[in-house]
Amino acid sequence: MAERAKQLAGIRGVVLDISGVLYDGGGDGGGVPIPGSREAVEKIKASGLKLRFCTNETQATRGKLVEKLQRLGFNISVNEVTAPAPAACRILKERNLRPHLLVHDDLVPEFDQLDKANPNCVVIGDAADNFSYKNLNEAFRVLIGLENPILISLGRGRYYKETDGLKLDVGVYMKALEYACDVQAEVVGKPAKMFFQSALAEMEVEPQQAIMIGDDIVNDVGGAQQCGMRALQVRTGKYRACDEQHPEVKADGYVNNLAEAVDIIVKQLHK
Ligand SMILES: [Mg+2]
Repeated sequence: MAERAKQLAGIRGVVLDISGVLYDGGGDGGGVPIPGSREAVEKIKASGLKLRFCTNETQATRGKLVEKLQRLGFNISVNEVTAPAPAACRILKERNLRPHLLVHDDLVPEFDQLDKANPNCVVIGDAADNFSYKNLNEAFRVLIGLENPILISLGRGRYYKETDGLKLDVGVYMKALEYACDVQAEVVGKPAKMFFQSALAEMEVEPQQAIMIGDDIVNDVGGAQQCGMRALQVRTGKYRACDEQHPEVKADGYVNNLAEAVDIIVKQLHK
């Protein structure tokens, strides 16, 4: 415990993953809050710590995701959330890129403001049932037909967990397009350093003053640590016991759930 307390000294900001940390399930528009997580969010807000939500969710717009979380009883607003699609839109605009989209139908409105005629890049997100042979092949044809093929991937996760089990994530299909076209995707989302940095900039805290709490050992914990932050893994969501023996990533701590993580962090503030 003494060692852990030392590890958590100097924390000023908390970055929370959403799916598997705040709630479980989803995909069908449902989901249930993980016990204690709503209270844990309130506790962070009451503690004076800065708070930012950082998600790789791309099956819905940020607005719809926040509405769902509010329905589940969370105190959260759109401007507290860092998500891949709005970040990708900024990049596309800056670089005058016109995307061909291979994304979930419910994400398409995020790209409404962009010119999509005569595409000069491909944007891939967690398209779920839209990952058909036909749609993948269409994205492949656009990409391979470009003189300078640009593939932008909204995250690079391997899998995630929904109510009925584990599901293949966008990274699997990103790899397929990378392989077919011999290109390397630009990842917008965790574990990309720039994505964490933009969340930290919103909070106005330095990486070493921030702690990430997530259920994904590679994308949440590993990504945050690469950025200079500390990171805790919760034993909820997609967590598996073997994560604690991961060959490359070691969390700064493993906790049963968000409520336990927040208790430890907030207690440390009063030391
Ligand atoms: Mg998660």
